[in-house]
Amino acid sequence: MNQQFEDLRASELYCPRCKTAQPVREKLLLVLPHSELHDYRCVACGESLGSREVKAPPVMPAAAAPRGARRPAPQAQPSRGRLPPRR
Ligand SMILES: [Zn+2]
Repeated sequence: MNQQFEDLRASELYCPRCKTAQPVREKLLLVLPHSELHDYRCVACGESLGSREVKAPPVMPAAAAPRGARRPAPQAQPSRGRLPPRR
């Protein structure tokens, strides 16, 4: 309980510059409408070691979706418009 970890989520990735696995720091790179792009950088040299796309859950208000209002199943309608030609 004595140690405090910083904002470190992905533990270690191989860094081609350091030629060893290094702890990485996650950085929010880009915010898209439906996802976020996170970048992983080596804490030693700052090399970008990879990125990850995090899908953001769609924002929907909890009480907005009426689940009880179901449409009745479409009944079989009498065919119209495509009458067979009569003689
Ligand atoms: Zn490095």
